[in-house]
Amino acid sequence: MARSPEASRRTFLGSAGAVGAGLFAASLLRAEDAPPLAPPDKQPPDLELPEPPKKTVGWAIVGLGKLAVEEVLPAFAHCKLSKPTALVSGHRDKAEQLARFYGINEKHIYDYDNYDQLADNPDVDVIYNILPNSMHAEYTIRGHQAGKHVLCEKPMAANVKECEQMIAAAKKFDRKLMVAYRLRYEPYNKKVIELCEQKHFGPIRSISASNCQVVQAPNIRLSKNLAGGPLGDIGIYCLNACRYVTGEEPIEVTAIEHWDKSDPRFREVPQSVAFTLKFPSGIIANCDCSFDATESRRYRVQCQEGYIELDPSFSYRGLRLFTSTGGKQTEHQLGQVNHFAAEMEHFSECIRSNKQPRTPGEEGLADMRVIAAIEEAARSGKTVKLHT
Ligand code: NAD
Repeated sequence: MARSPEASRRTFLGSAGAVGAGLFAASLLRAEDAPPLAPPDKQPPDLELPEPPKKTVGWAIVGLGKLAVEEVLPAFAHCKLSKPTALVSGHRDKAEQLARFYGINEKHIYDYDNYDQLADNPDVDVIYNILPNSMHAEYTIRGHQAGKHVLCEKPMAANVKECEQMIAAAKKFDRKLMVAYRLRYEPYNKKVIELCEQKHFGPIRSISASNCQVVQAPNIRLSKNLAGGPLGDIGIYCLNACRYVTGEEPIEVTAIEHWDKSDPRFREVPQSVAFTLKFPSGIIANCDCSFDATESRRYRVQCQEGYIELDPSFSYRGLRLFTSTGGKQTEHQLGQVNHFAAEMEHFSECIRSNKQPRTPGEEGLADMRVIAAIEEAARSGKTVKLHT
């Protein structure tokens, strides 16, 4: 039977009153049971005290150029285990100014002549070698001789022989050697490795990778004596990515380079290099790098059922991950970290717990062997086979 509007209104008011009374009773009950409003022992109940600091690992920064000053030294602000304790530079004024800023004892400033005296500094556990590529081997080996662990910038050295000597020195002096492949310590590249390992989009068929920028003179990158050139400086990111996403070592290499004879910047190193790698499973990777092309820092892994793309993939910050399957592209947000802090913390942790770093000297040597093959392929115009 239909009810009149007045009857409905009364029913509603009646039930609303009952609910109101119920709530009132509940609030009375809650007030009786509620904890005191003021913290009973004058302490916030959720106060979290920090753990006592773990013993920090002391770092000597060697070579105070752009990377050291603009990226590495500021990155210590994001570190818990790593602390800058010494500086090595040929420019005393610059080192003093940085030492004051970072609270480093001015007695812990060294130059390239008294570098070996780092051996007597117990506040230095590890040396971060950020010198031009041609100086990586000498200052890494002397660092190990001084009893220190070494994190060495990429490319590990000027050639395969130097890489082998560095690894031998680390073994001889029982010190750890890590190559600064920062992308192995940040979430975006790590995620690509995970997706490829899981064959999330099926087996990988091909990879395309590109790392280009415009380099103006003067710059260590344009000098043959300092072991510059686009391949070791930026092409190495494409090569290293192809190796870490496939988990395989290339077996065949072809390459081509361009020397722009009309441009005086390229009288000692090529302007551009392109190379193709073939892997044992049949994956083919096409890579290019240039010192005279607008910025590109990206790679795409082409799988049987979709693709995985990082663009940018090699920059210090702002990496972006895209995947695509069935014609639908998705962007994935993973949260950014400071790459330099992440790699330094990893090495400090390895030193404290006596573990092998994720990117030891052998990793730098593996890249250098392929770089040597790429150079030979470009020189000869022939396919070069690699023994794995
Ligand atoms: P840079 O030219 O800015 O710095 C080089 C430093 O070495 C300077 O402080 C310079 O004074 C010192 N030096 C000592 N002896 C020298 C000599 N004979 N000639 C020239 N410089 C000399 O170079 P950078 O960009 O800081 O690069 C340094 C190293 O770091 C290189 O190995 C480079 O490949 C590497 N790097 C790595 C990344 C990365 O993302 N991991 C980025 C940039 C550079």
